Order: sequence, then structure tokens, then C-alpha cells
Amino acid sequence: MDENMKPHQRTRRIMVGAAPVGGGAPVAVQSMLNAPADDVAANLAQIEALAEAGCEIVRMAIPRRACLDAFEAVCAASPLPVVADIHFDATIAIEAARRGAAKLRINPGNIGGLEATRDVIEAAREAGIPIRIGVNAGSLDDAIAERQDLTLPEKLVASARQYVRFFEDECRFFDLAVSAKAHDVQTTIDTYRLLAAELPEVPLHIGVTEAGTAFQGIIKSAAGLGVLLEEGIGDTMRISLTDDPVVEVRACWTLLGALDLRRRAPELISCPTCGRCQVDLIGLAREVEEHLASVQKPVKVAVMGCVVNGPGEAADADIGVACGAGSGVVFSHGKIVRKVNESDIVPALLEELENL
Ligand code: SF4
Repeated sequence: MDENMKPHQRTRRIMVGAAPVGGGAPVAVQSMLNAPADDVAANLAQIEALAEAGCEIVRMAIPRRACLDAFEAVCAASPLPVVADIHFDATIAIEAARRGAAKLRINPGNIGGLEATRDVIEAAREAGIPIRIGVNAGSLDDAIAERQDLTLPEKLVASARQYVRFFEDECRFFDLAVSAKAHDVQTTIDTYRLLAAELPEVPLHIGVTEAGTAFQGIIKSAAGLGVLLEEGIGDTMRISLTDDPVVEVRACWTLLGALDLRRRAPELISCPTCGRCQVDLIGLAREVEEHLASVQKPVKVAVMGCVVNGPGEAADADIGVACGAGSGVVFSHGKIVRKVNESDIVPALLEELENL
């Protein structure tokens, strides 16, 4: 193996439906549905919005046996691969594998023991789908949780390692990914660094769990996942937010774009404004951002408040505006294309974006 390879280039490739995860594939963006688990139409509407935002894999909880019919209907109509998320009842996981799941997400620690896990593995093998072993700081095995000699990251990794051994050595099942999540940023970083070192072939699903509402959650996730992604750790990611899952997906893409790993949406460059600014730049930037949310060109758009840094940044971006007193000079590919009043800045930028 090439020593210069990044951790995510060393992992095994698994397929979640048509989405490749691991083995050097681009970091796959995923999210989780939060519509009621028995409401097919609501889940499909959410999947459509997520697909539009660039989500590549969705996960759906199956909290009760009665929700299996809805899960099956969602899988049948979904344009995205659907991962079945099951706790406590192995028989639901087995049924989900038979009814169209593109992957199963279980925690062997709460699914009913290793024998029940073995049955789930056989169902996944039969269906030809992978399994994510999801270990969580909040639900560690008692035997590991009580050990005084291990730090929390070491406990999470010990737990994941024990399950991976069972899957691989005892069941000869290698179609798997692992996550080991905590709500604390440093624990997340330390845990995934250890996992990448100890289980180098296993694709990693990275995320800071229970990260909070959008503002705090995005910052925590960007801090933790940013470090890991920069080190090449992580094959698929979710930014967990107490919010609309579409926000999770936008946050994933913005983070991947900021790290120059993947770009799908436009990047907005806008100044913080200061006493020199003579337009409502914050309002303008927000309006532009709103419009850009539905644009899928990986372009740079600069919205700048005055002539100090404005012309330079605006000219450097694909399109941009450098504002003056109630007006703006619009640039496209480095050249001035028009001068407009403040009220026409957003339409002018959008027109230039159309023409790119
Ligand atoms: S570009 Fe101009 S208005 Fe914006 S922060 Fe810089 S100096 Fe202030």
C-alpha cells in the first residue's frame, strides 16, 4: 500500500444503492428523514427536497414493525438510496433488508446481542446490501462503558473494533461501514483518528451527533469534521442538526466546498461591512444567498461593500459587485459589465449568473 495515500483512499469501497462510499470515492453527503415514519408522502416529499439540495444517501428510522410497509413504499419510489435505521428489534432490520433498504444501520449493542446481529448480517448478505455499525457514546456496552483504564474515544473504538471483528472474522461479512459518534468535538476527532488508524480498511461515516440547532450545530460539526476531512478521514458524512434536513445537506456541501474537497453550489464571498458601506449590504448578501441556494453551478459570487476591497474581490470571482453610494459596479469574469442602482444589484447579478 502506498504510504502517501490518505485514509479515505485506503478504505474498502461499499455501494449504498448507486452511491459509492469509500475506496477514494468523493465523500458522500447524507442526511436523515424526520417526517413521521408511517407517512409515505411526507417522507417522499422530504427526499425530493433533499435530492434537490444534493443529498446522496438518506436514512429513515423504522421505529415499529407497523412502519415497514411505509418504508417499503418509500424505498420503491425514492430517487435516493434509503438506509434503514433500526434499534432494539433485529427482526425489523431483517425485514427492512428484504423490503428495499439500500443499507442497514444498526448498533449491535442494542439490537439483541451478537446472535441477533448474525441474523441481520445474513439478511443483508442475502439482499446484497451493506451494514453500518453505529456505535454511540450514549449507548456503549456496559462492559466497555465501565472500564476505568480507557478514555471515551478508546471505549468507542474498542466497541467498534469488537463488532467489526465479529462481522469480519466470525461472519465473513466485509460489506460494512462504521460510525462512532459523540456530541463533543474533541472526542469525535480523537475517536475517528483512532478508528482510521486501527481499522484502516473500514469506510467511516463521520459526524458529530446531537450537535444542536443550526448555528451551534454547524459550527461544532465544521470544527470536528473539518479537521477530520482535512486529514483525509471520512468516507461519508452527516451534519446532524435540530433543523430541516435540507439545512444539513447545505451545511455538508458548504463545508466540503470550503475545504476544496467537493463543490456543487456557488460560493458567496461577501464582506462584513463597516462604516464605509453605503448600501444595505447585509440585506443584499442575504437576498443573493437565497437565490443561490437553488443554483447548482460551482461558481464564486462576490458581494462587496465599497471600493477598498470590492473591485479586487468582485473581479476575482466569476461574478461580483463592488458597491458605492446607493449603487454597484457589476463584474463578470473580471470585467466591469454594468453600473446599476442599489435596487437593481440583485437582478443584475442573477442575470450575469444566468449568462455564465
Ligand atoms: S469592502 Fe469596504 S465596506 Fe466591506 S468591510 Fe471592506 S472596507 Fe468595509
